[in-house]
Amino acid sequence: MESKETLYELQDCPACREGVGCMEHEGGWCCYVACMDCGAQTAHFAYNNEAERIEAEKKAAYTWNIGKVIRMDPGE
Ligand SMILES: [Zn+2]
Repeated sequence: MESKETLYELQDCPACREGVGCMEHEGGWCCYVACMDCGAQTAHFAYNNEAERIEAEKKAAYTWNIGKVIRMDPGE
């Protein structure tokens, strides 16, 4: 099963409004969306299997798209 349907859309970074969101996976058990530009990222969403992975990706994408991100800038 190699079908790569798009399950979610990632909008531009809600923090810097310029960066592109990228779905990252960590250790094969959780995922999050991070900005390639400013480093803002969503919370991590854990999963235990393929079905949960898809749900976790959708949740991460949704969180990103509504602008619920953790900003990485060290303070002004
Ligand atoms: Zn950004």
